[in-house]
Amino acid sequence: MRLALEAPALRTLTIAGRDERFPVNRVFCVGRNYAAHAREMGKDPDREPPFFFMKPAAAVVDAAQPASVTYPPKTKNYHHEIELVVAIGRGGRDIPVALALAHVYGYAVGLDMTRRDLQLEARDQGRPWEFGKSFAWSAPIGALHRAQDIGHPLAAAITLTVNGQARQQSDIAKLIWSVSACVAVLSAYEALEPGDLIMTGTPEGVGAVMAGDLMRGEVQGLGAIEVRVTG
Ligand code: MN
Repeated sequence: MRLALEAPALRTLTIAGRDERFPVNRVFCVGRNYAAHAREMGKDPDREPPFFFMKPAAAVVDAAQPASVTYPPKTKNYHHEIELVVAIGRGGRDIPVALALAHVYGYAVGLDMTRRDLQLEARDQGRPWEFGKSFAWSAPIGALHRAQDIGHPLAAAITLTVNGQARQQSDIAKLIWSVSACVAVLSAYEALEPGDLIMTGTPEGVGAVMAGDLMRGEVQGLGAIEVRVTG
């Protein structure tokens, strides 16, 4: 096949302890999946089923090694959101909760970087979230840990520091919608495909970063990522 233009580069993630890499297909993100974060965003966590938005695969940054992201344009409120990331290894549609984990390839630590001012403006005007959520370098993600190596974490501390100061601190056991539930609900709307990622939502404590800041995010058992914001 001859292409009229050079094809865009495939985005891939490091897999811990392996030479092969994980090809990224689509990036789904869960909104408001920790009660305390839903409250800090002015929403009632008890009334809403999970909802999803997306980022392009091109937004993914391999943060298996210390990485950097460029401060994005058109924002004065660029926020960190530390999240557990789920990598889908086997596709499927209408996946039952009880079988959902068999579709999971592995887990990683990730950041759902957000232009909060643009996101809230869109939210309040009933517009799409893309400009707030889906932009270049908005998804730094650490090394994937295979489920066959580490199992399926149900409880683990999830933390984020900025320049060494604690910002976000919770436990993935507090996810309102578990990994299994997210896979099941999402696959009812859209057939999941190998290479899809699901960012499972952030706990409370989101806040702004500036050029020069160093974010360090960790999920117990999945290691830590270090991401510097550059001007
Ligand atoms: Mn998020």
